[in-house]
Amino acid sequence: MKPSEAVANIEYARKWLGSESDFSDEALDMSISALEKQEPQRPKIKGLLFYSYHMYGSCPCCKGQVEEGWRFCPWCGQALNWGDDDD
Ligand SMILES: [Zn+2]
Repeated sequence: MKPSEAVANIEYARKWLGSESDFSDEALDMSISALEKQEPQRPKIKGLLFYSYHMYGSCPCCKGQVEEGWRFCPWCGQALNWGDDDD
C-alpha cells in the first residue's frame, strides 16, 4: 500500500469514528502527516554546490537545505525525489 492510499484509508476511518467519544482526531492527524512525509517530494532546486558539483535545494516541507542524493530531509524526515526515478 502506498502512503497516499493509507492516508485515504485513514480519512475514510475518520468519517466513521468521528462521532465516538474516545476518538482522537489528533492521533489521525499525526498519522497522516507522518505518512505524507513518506511520499517523496521534489526539492526546490537552488543551484550547484561549488565543492561537490551536486545540486542543492530546499526541502518542500520545512525549507531546510538538502543536497542531491539525500533520500530524506535530515531536518524534518520528508522523503525526497531528485528526479532520478530509481524507485
Ligand atoms: Zn524538511
